[in-house]
Amino acid sequence: MNMGRAFLLSIGNELLSGLTVDTNAAWISGQLAEQGIPTIGVLTVPDEIADTVESLRLAVSKADIVITTGGLGPTDDDLTRQSLAQYLGVELQFQPELFESIAAFFRRRNFPMVEKNRIQAYLPAGTEAIPNSTGTAPGMLACKDKVRIFCLPGVPSEMKVMFTDFLVPRLAELTDRQVVVSRRLKCFGTGESMIAEKLGNLMLRGRNPLINCTVSDAVITLHIVATAPDRPSAEVMIQKDQTALCEILGDWVYGRDDQTLAEVVGARLAAAGKTLAVAESCTGGLIAKMLTDIPGSSRYLSCGWVTYSNQAKQSELGVDPALLAQYGAVSEPVVRAMAEGARRKSGADFALAVTGIAGPDGGTEQKPVGLVYIGVQTPDQTIVQKCQFPQSRAMIRNRAALAALNLVRLQMNG
Ligand code: ATP
Ligand code: MG
Repeated sequence: MNMGRAFLLSIGNELLSGLTVDTNAAWISGQLAEQGIPTIGVLTVPDEIADTVESLRLAVSKADIVITTGGLGPTDDDLTRQSLAQYLGVELQFQPELFESIAAFFRRRNFPMVEKNRIQAYLPAGTEAIPNSTGTAPGMLACKDKVRIFCLPGVPSEMKVMFTDFLVPRLAELTDRQVVVSRRLKCFGTGESMIAEKLGNLMLRGRNPLINCTVSDAVITLHIVATAPDRPSAEVMIQKDQTALCEILGDWVYGRDDQTLAEVVGARLAAAGKTLAVAESCTGGLIAKMLTDIPGSSRYLSCGWVTYSNQAKQSELGVDPALLAQYGAVSEPVVRAMAEGARRKSGADFALAVTGIAGPDGGTEQKPVGLVYIGVQTPDQTIVQKCQFPQSRAMIRNRAALAALNLVRLQMNG
């Protein structure tokens, strides 16, 4: 079944000058992917009729669905309406009912409507208006050579509402009543090449469900996209693949959809009725921040220390000065002592400690920048993990925090 392929046109001089980053195209292609519709091209186009017409021609020649954003405003540099009319070879026609709905929008806001807004009530002949409930500029839907052309405003908030309310149902009709259901599995603790290696043929292109892999901040997301005649069938297909993936990837899979490691660790602690204390050095409170970003974290986070200096590690956590002198602050014995001190002082069930060299300075041959020790003390034992993270200070600190949360998760897995 042909699910359609999309081509996006982002219209606006401000996008070409770099004043505005094109977030619309990124958002739309993500939404289309959720519908199982691949985006095969994105073009940034200046506010010029000739360029827009040429771009429409190109997009229509390549795709089944064309979505433009921008240039629907009332000002003289907003030319998408005129461009679409020229491309279709038709006249712009005044639409009294559209004019009335724009006028009503101004009345509701108690704002005077100026003559310039009148232009927004014109549509190329034969096109359909796409209602805009949050702004003045209606969108347009045209059809040319069986290709649907959707024109949406540039303002991201208006564009998103119109996409969700109007395009999503229309796209579902276009895709021949096929239902597309997607789910994401979140993994941590390995690289994407390892995952691809393990999954082998499951990731073949053209397979249904289609399995894709993306990485962001060391978190690997597996997208499972199933296409079926109805939702229950698609759900069954997804569930079957999810089970297979979890079996193959084991402990690397930590959650689903938008779940973060902190959220999953928190939920596991809450479910078990256990508490956690954190003692941080190089992460400077980042782990506590990640945990407390989640509402309800007071149920399981008992307390946190930022023990940055050796002095603080001694006075706050009771780390033996002899250990610090002999092994240095970034060492296995010290992180172990930090975790044990944090658990003893807080009375929490679990204690997590991190010490490392975030850089850019302070590295040596034996202890390079990016070296981080993570320690977890559970009611049964203390586990230490030595990590070597690459790149910048920000990345090292973020990776260290995530790896630390992950170590707690793995301990709770038993
Ligand atoms: P309106 O009809 O509401 O006036 P418009 O369709 O004319 O909108 P523009 O005037 O081109 O849209 O842009 C309006 C705002 O939206 C600007 O602040 C612009 O920076 C922002 N914007 C436009 N295109 C994009 C895009 N592709 N990504 C992110 N922001 C965008
Ligand atoms: Mg514009």
